[in-house]
This record gives sequence, C-alpha cells and structure tokens, in this order.
Amino acid sequence: MKSEPSNPSVCHLFASCGCDLSCSGKQPAWIKERPSLTVEVHPPVGLSGQSRSFRRAHLSPVTLLCFLPLNCLGREAEEAVGAPPCCTSKGLLDIVVDQLTPLQTGSFCSRTSSPHECLRMPSIFSYQSAEVDWCEGNFERSAVIAEYYNTISNVSFFVLSPALLYLNRQYCQKKAVPLYFVSGLLLLVGVFSMYFHMTLSYMGQLLDELSILWTLAVAYSFWYPQAYFPKCIKTRRHFFWLTGITTVISTLMSFIKPTLNAYALNCIAFHLLYLTWRELKKCNDKRVHRMAAVMVMWWALAITSWISDRWLCWLWQAINFPYFHSFWHVLIAMSLLYCCPLVIYFDVSYEMPSFKPKLEYWPSDSWPVVVPYVTLEEPHKQC
Ligand SMILES: [Zn+2]
Repeated sequence: MKSEPSNPSVCHLFASCGCDLSCSGKQPAWIKERPSLTVEVHPPVGLSGQSRSFRRAHLSPVTLLCFLPLNCLGREAEEAVGAPPCCTSKGLLDIVVDQLTPLQTGSFCSRTSSPHECLRMPSIFSYQSAEVDWCEGNFERSAVIAEYYNTISNVSFFVLSPALLYLNRQYCQKKAVPLYFVSGLLLLVGVFSMYFHMTLSYMGQLLDELSILWTLAVAYSFWYPQAYFPKCIKTRRHFFWLTGITTVISTLMSFIKPTLNAYALNCIAFHLLYLTWRELKKCNDKRVHRMAAVMVMWWALAITSWISDRWLCWLWQAINFPYFHSFWHVLIAMSLLYCCPLVIYFDVSYEMPSFKPKLEYWPSDSWPVVVPYVTLEEPHKQC
C-alpha cells in the first residue's frame, strides 16, 4: 500500500535507540483495527542536533499524530517497560499509547484517543512543527518545554517593558501613545518568543517573528525622523500609511519562507544603526555618544550569539554548551534598553521643540554600569 505523504503534524516520535519499526510484534488493538499506520521516528535527539530528517517506518496509511518525547525517557523507559523500549514494535507502540497526553498532542488527542482523533489536531500548533530548531537540545530539562533556557531567557523582555515605561515616564506623560504601544509590543514579543521556544510550533515561529516585525513597524511609524522621510511622503500621516502597507505586505510574505524572516528582521537592525550614526554626527552630547556606543556593544554581542547558535551549533554541541540563543534574548533586550532612550532623545529634539531632551543615568551618574533614560527640560527655564 502506498504510504501517506509526509505531514508536518505527523507523529514526531522520538526513539532514543533509533530502532527499526518494521519489525513485527504483537500490536495493540487499535492498531489492528487500522492495519496500516505510518510512524515517523526522529533520530535520537542530542546525537542528531538540529537534524530534521526522519527515519520513517511505514505501517501506513493512518498517520499517527502524537508527540512523544521518548528521548528523555532513555534508560528509565527501558526499566519501566522491562525491555529495550523501541526494539520491538510492540514495545514502542505500547509506549506511544501510554505516553499520549493532551498537553503533548493537542486538545483532541489523549491517551485514549485513536490516531484518527489525533489527526484532527491543528498541525501548525503541534510541537516541533516549526521550520527551525535552535541549537539547544529539546526536552532535556522538561517534558513540556522544548528548549528550556531559550524559553525562560525571554523573561528579559518582561523586565525591559516596564523598565522603559518607568524610566522614561516624563516623556510618557507628554507623549504617551508611542512608548505604551512599543513597550506593550515588546512584552508581546517576549510572550510569543516564549511560546515558540516552548513548543517549536509553526504558529509560535510566525508569531515570534511577526511580533518583532509589528514592533519595528510601530516604532518606525511613531519615531522615524521626518527629515529622513522619502521625498514623496510629506506628513507623518502619510508615513503611517506607508509603514502600514509595508507591514501588511511583509506579514503576508513572511508565510512564504519563514526561515528567512529572522534574517530579514536582523537586517533592519543595520538600518537602525545607520540612522543612529547619522544622528550622532549632528549631536554633540557626550552622553548620547557614550550610550550609543554601549547600545552597539550589546547589539554586537547579541547578533554574534544569534549567528553562532545558527551556524556553529556543531561546535557548541561538541563542547556541550548549546545555549547561545538564550544569550541572544538577554543581550538584545539589553541593547533595546539603550536603544529606546536614544530614539526618544532624538524624537524630543525633532518633534517637541518646546522641550530640551536630557539623557540621565539610572541608578546614578557615579555607577559604573548605568541605564539611560530621557528627561525633558523646558529650554527657557535653563537660561
Ligand atoms: Zn528566540
């Protein structure tokens, strides 16, 4: 019988011993009812790293939809079953049935579900349906969190958002909407990134990437200096429309090849750096220059971590330290902590002529490590 085409929501079955499923054995009753069944077996996690290739055993055509982190069972599983778990189809499939939980398989799939019921699970939400898998091993520290450190490191965004709002509260009182919007969206970036790294689902990947795109779009439309508007754009209102339309088109395009989205988003950082450089040329304030340098340093460290996790994973796995993507989360949040006050500083100097922006340091000037924030001075009071 012809086998079913590969389905992203196909049972991602982790068999730590990489056995051959074609072996015969006594099968559970529900498999007998469906005489043919497709099971896809991942190579052992840890050994395979980011490999998405499957070893497939065709017991087709019912595609068993389940998600089973058998990789974390290993020896315990052997002890629990009393035999090497995946060296007979019976052993393996018994574990499949035993291990199905609603959490791992989606709301339609439970340990009593038949594979057909599981098939109703929306595939874009299923664990590991994303195109990318970062260097950190999956399900090593938790049976429900795929990439543990990549997930929890997003806490940095939960600190970043309120910190920006609190420190720049004076600006916020005068011009509340942009900063509320941007810090709200940064919080959303943290939430979606957590969801993505926890599940490695296709939906998680898109939400993570799109929330970054939307945050950038909102930041650009509120804060992009009028002096740099394209010639055909006369007012900020027009610029809103331009960024709005660009964002809608980019959002639709992001579905075409989600793997490229992250690269595209990182390219926007170069445009931001270019803008900062142009603004700095016009600015004499030493504090602004210093904070821009610190921002670039954090960003350089962040992007280095991101790229090395993506491209040098084999090396980090060889030395047992595949955690650079979680560093990226923390470092990029640090970079944004410096970037936002700079942007606000330039916004006040351009768009709020009745005020003079001043970069202050938190907790105080005398500390070796400081976080910048913007206060507003009324120029005539100074003289
Ligand atoms: Zn991430």
